[in-house]
Amino acid sequence: MGRYCYLCGSVNSTTTSLHKFPTNQETLTLWLQFCKLNENDDVSKIKICSVYFLAENFIDSTAKSKGGRMVLTESAFPRIRKRSSCAFDNENDNSGSIELGNYL
Ligand SMILES: [Zn+2]
Repeated sequence: MGRYCYLCGSVNSTTTSLHKFPTNQETLTLWLQFCKLNENDDVSKIKICSVYFLAENFIDSTAKSKGGRMVLTESAFPRIRKRSSCAFDNENDNSGSIELGNYL
């Protein structure tokens, strides 16, 4: 369960790491939105991989290449949708507001 990314199913690798949901309520809400979950979902065992985050979201984004662990800052939340997912291809020509719910 917790060993796979909830969103894409990939595992810990040499370039990506898996991240647990935050405990901070405000940040958590943003994670839930990104993953299309809600507060009733049990996210304690869910993880998502680091590809959804910006480099600046990590305390040290190069930690992985140095053999360490990538650690997210307290306020970090996922915002990058994978290019391979065609449902999110509209992300670039962002002409209007994007409702996450539209992609369900
Ligand atoms: Zn993933």
